[in-house]
Amino acid sequence: MSSAALSIDLAALVANWRALDAMTACETGAVVKADAYGLGIERVAPALAHAGVRQFFVAQVNEAVNLRKLLGKGPQIYVFAGHMPGDSGLIGVHELTPMINSVDQMLRHVESLPDGAFGIQLDSGMNRLGMEPAEWAALRDIAIGQGPSLVMSHLACSDEPDHPMNPHQLNVFKQMAADVNAPLSLAATAGILLGPDYHFDLTRPGIGLYGGAPFNDADPVVALELPVIQIRDLEPGETVGYGNTWVAQRPSRIATVSAGYADGLIRAMGDAAFTYAGDMPCPLVGRVSMDLITVDVTDLDTDLTGDPTHLSILGPYQSVDALAQATGTIGYEILTSLGGRYTRMYRE
Ligand SMILES: *Cc1c(COP(=O)(O)O)cnc(C)c1O
Repeated sequence: MSSAALSIDLAALVANWRALDAMTACETGAVVKADAYGLGIERVAPALAHAGVRQFFVAQVNEAVNLRKLLGKGPQIYVFAGHMPGDSGLIGVHELTPMINSVDQMLRHVESLPDGAFGIQLDSGMNRLGMEPAEWAALRDIAIGQGPSLVMSHLACSDEPDHPMNPHQLNVFKQMAADVNAPLSLAATAGILLGPDYHFDLTRPGIGLYGGAPFNDADPVVALELPVIQIRDLEPGETVGYGNTWVAQRPSRIATVSAGYADGLIRAMGDAAFTYAGDMPCPLVGRVSMDLITVDVTDLDTDLTGDPTHLSILGPYQSVDALAQATGTIGYEILTSLGGRYTRMYRE
């Protein structure tokens, strides 16, 4: 089979949710936006619901509609983008909970779905989503009177525990939420690790569930094995791939492997990342193509094992974060880039 195999360990996912839940005294939700960070919301969300998650978060209303179909009635589904024009029908029918980000969204919500659940998103300094202090001051009595299900904000620098932005945002959030008689939420994965001051009533982990930093004690969730299509021998001076960017300096053996940038192996991995044959690192050489990468397997001792039939790019010897670091990006981008051509295998 020429398609690569992406293995997703749902038991590890659930173990990560439980571990993050055990770090706080409050409720723990789950963020499953972007197809559960690329791992497949069809399997990820029901596994989390089965483990006890009752509060789910997605970015957009279409994701929320799909999630409602997967989960059925019951769990709360929050939409970070809030109540956008044209979404009232879907929000009402599927009983979604928009996070209201502005006065405009609040008016739209009250006019179209006066009895519909909603949350409030406050901007405590990130300047991305949510109401700023002045806007909130004007709206808060009306909004609180409508009974929000949640009042939340989001941290900009929580992956840097000593960053002064963290206590600053904590203070701003506390001031904005003073006297609010609704559950409060500030922490995503990194915020959970900042400690109890940041936990409030509900946390919203995403990346930690999927095995990514900064939750360094996470169980790995993803493994990715790439099939080798062919292997060839090169003389010194021969080149590999588009643009002739890699030149053999010695007699070399090059494996052509079935996955490329269309599968999320971003071009920055060329000449920078490694695959693994067992525990042996084998470097990518030359440019990443759309459907293929080329790997230097010269140093493998194949006397006993024969040529490799597969090379691993995510697995026991290389985590999502190690691959991200080698290529100058973050684990979030590696995961959400994982392409649609993989054969996905879920372990319960
Ligand atoms: C994506 C997101 C989260 C989850 O963040 P992680 O760092 O993946 O845990 C939580 N809250 C908001 C508002 C988000 O956009």
